Amino acid sequence: FRSQSPTYHNWEMGLDAIYICLHLRGSVPDSVRAARDLGIGGLNVTIPFKSQVIPALDTIDEVANMIGAVNVIHLGEAIRGYNTDVTASIRSLREVSGRLDGKVVLLVGAGGSARAVAFGLVGEGAMVRIANRTAKRAEDLADEIRSKKPGAEIQTLPLGEMVGCLADSDVLINATPVGMHPNPGRSIVDSSALRPHLTVMDLVYNPQNTMLLNEARKSGCKTVGGLKMLVYQAAESIKIWTGKDPPVDVMIGAARKALAKFPGDQGISTN
Ligand code: NAP
Repeated sequence: FRSQSPTYHNWEMGLDAIYICLHLRGSVPDSVRAARDLGIGGLNVTIPFKSQVIPALDTIDEVANMIGAVNVIHLGEAIRGYNTDVTASIRSLREVSGRLDGKVVLLVGAGGSARAVAFGLVGEGAMVRIANRTAKRAEDLADEIRSKKPGAEIQTLPLGEMVGCLADSDVLINATPVGMHPNPGRSIVDSSALRPHLTVMDLVYNPQNTMLLNEARKSGCKTVGGLKMLVYQAAESIKIWTGKDPPVDVMIGAARKALAKFPGDQGISTN
């Protein structure tokens, strides 16, 4: 699966700039410095490089430093690192769920994206329950958040106990690749466990209409797809690089169009 980011970064935005994908061959910090020396204005960084770029930075913002992951770099006299995944995930969720303080959130997954989402949720005052296939990874993430955010309300639970936990959760978030292309016919939870009181968020954006989101809608839940998080983090990146607010609606339209090629996405509304 190739990155779709150039599609919505280069879409009629009125900027004298172009966004391209680069494959790294050599040392990550050396490549970042070389990009600056070539006059490139900024970089997005994807897995597995989000922590590997940190030694190349002159400064790092507070959130990126706390979670140890950088997804945006501004290249100027100084090389500055930022994390926009945290705010983008919370912004897209809050648009549908409303305020998150005091809400109980069941987060499935403990990888890179779950990490950003978990830190963001705790920062919003939500009570976070993490369920992950590898239990130890969920426990390590919870321990790390507790040590960096004293007072954080965070628990872990075995993946097998997740269904029993849904009845008194307000939000369910899938931060695993389950349901992603090329295996769209899968979901992290059986549809019979979904109840209308839940807001269901899926970080997967290819397809936009995942099985989890489709079943959640049928069960009367509010839903949040992964596309808005993707576009919001991109929009924040552009603001960091140019100082300008990009046309987010234009970017969302371009991203929807680019991702509509995945089976099940044609003509179906999604958040
Ligand atoms: P990651 O760092 O590789 O973590 C994957 C997580 O999913 C791990 O917790 C892993 O559990 C779990 N997992 C993998 N396969 C599983 C399975 N078959 N059953 C149950 N759990 C499984 O990946 P990531 O970067 O967090 O990405 C996760 C998903 O989020 C991807 O689909 C990605 O495209 C999407 N994403 C979306 C956005 C957005 O802007 N919308 C941003 C980032 C990521 P173990 O620990 O047991 O391996």
